[in-house]
Amino acid sequence: MESLFFDTGIIGGGPAGYSAAIRAAQKGLSVVLFEKKAMGGVCLNRGCIPTKTILHCTELYKSLKKSQKFGINAGEISYDYEKIFQRKNEIVEKLQKSLTKLVQSYGVEIISAEAKLAAADKIEANKNIYTCKNIILSTGSKPAQIKGIETDGEFILNSDDILNLQNPPQSLLIIGSGAIGVEWARIFSALDKEVTVIEAADRLLPSADADISRRLERLFKKSKIKYFTATKVETIENRTVTLSNSQVLTPDIVLCAAGREPVIPQGLDFEMDGRFVKVNENFQTNFKNIYAVGDINGRLQLAHSALHQALGVVDYITEGKEIHFKKDHVPSVIYGSPEIAWVGKSEEMLKGMDYKVSNFPVSALGKAFADDEIDGFVKVLSVDDRIAGAHIVCSEASSLIHQFALMIDNNLKTNDILNTVFAHPTYSEAVFESILGLDNLSLSLPRS
Ligand SMILES: Cc1cc2nc3c(=O)[nH]c(=O)nc-3n(C[C@H](O)[C@H](O)[C@H](O)COP(=O)(O)OP(=O)(O)OC[C@H]3O[C@@H](n4cnc5c(N)ncnc54)[C@H](O)[C@@H]3O)c2cc1C
Repeated sequence: MESLFFDTGIIGGGPAGYSAAIRAAQKGLSVVLFEKKAMGGVCLNRGCIPTKTILHCTELYKSLKKSQKFGINAGEISYDYEKIFQRKNEIVEKLQKSLTKLVQSYGVEIISAEAKLAAADKIEANKNIYTCKNIILSTGSKPAQIKGIETDGEFILNSDDILNLQNPPQSLLIIGSGAIGVEWARIFSALDKEVTVIEAADRLLPSADADISRRLERLFKKSKIKYFTATKVETIENRTVTLSNSQVLTPDIVLCAAGREPVIPQGLDFEMDGRFVKVNENFQTNFKNIYAVGDINGRLQLAHSALHQALGVVDYITEGKEIHFKKDHVPSVIYGSPEIAWVGKSEEMLKGMDYKVSNFPVSALGKAFADDEIDGFVKVLSVDDRIAGAHIVCSEASSLIHQFALMIDNNLKTNDILNTVFAHPTYSEAVFESILGLDNLSLSLPRS
């Protein structure tokens, strides 16, 4: 057994782990990173990138089917899911290789092995002991099993299994209408498959503002995606699903898209916060030199949130800089058309406070007509003339939301924001117009 010494040991090579590794190396620390499966973690291999690669293909197929509306004669349109599947694998493989090279270019030592904690400053892997002044746990999460509807990889799939399907099912039942459930519903519906979504809460996408949930219901109806809210799966027996509302369904496949649980390396007893590793505001665990960032701490299960926490921890280790991480300030995005995004407080969260609200319909934009993307809105909330939250259903919402994130994070005054010139014709005009609307001054809406 060899003993090796590093300033920083990082367990897990997902967005949290590789970002921490690069930032630590940039700050002059010696870094060792352990990854037991593939660099890039869930995000690159089983999450953000593969799903968005497939979604891009299915959205393209959907657009091509209406090409005649745009004066384009594209002939007969069909798709080849095997090719979509292959393209997804090729892109993941390519990005995985370039990520490994990128991390290595910073002199980070990557160990392809499962790591265990041998002590608060010792990591064991490949029968070696790595002594590290600080350790960052970034071991992420995995799909949670729901009692009574355990996944079997054949009929009941989780978000990992569904990515390995080489043929899309004719009918699919999705349990959960969070980001993962909605994106897969949009993928299979674009391929003209029969999709049903089951949501236990009383509305779709329950973590979003209620106006987004309402619009999503309308969009689901338009796309012929069936859904049941305030409904649970009671039993699944012999490929037959019985719902709490007594409906009986026989889909080809069930996707369980409800909940993830942390992956915790073996060796030490961590204080827990529910199912997740408990951390303080600087992401320290109950062992002061061991930090836990990303999905493992359950604060927010998003790749960009993981990355930001990781950078914060390295700056804290190297400069003692307190961490600036506000859950509310992290944008959430649901992909597909139209895109959905939000940041800051929802209207429900502001209930009881003195706030203003403005809801600007995308159909008032010339750009939306040019693109045939008129179904959507930009809703903005303000408190004391500062933006408190923004909720968007609109083409390009995944980019637009960052304008609001910047405003919220920098506590900008609405009057100052309105000094900025927004180009025409763009969807960004809806950002400008929605803020004007806080004082009933939208230019593209009739007098109310
Ligand atoms: C289907 C799906 C779609 C998603 N889409 C998006 C999206 O569009 N946008 C977004 O922001 N987020 C998305 N997410 C969430 C995102 O993938 C996660 O929030 C993100 O990957 C978390 O990063 P992480 O670094 O904390 O952990 P992970 O990405 O889970 O990485 C952890 C890594 O640690 C490794 N590991 C674990 N234990 C050990 C050990 N003991 N030794 C060595 N290595 C170990 C694992 O192999 C893994 O590679 C999606 C998730 C899913 C499932």
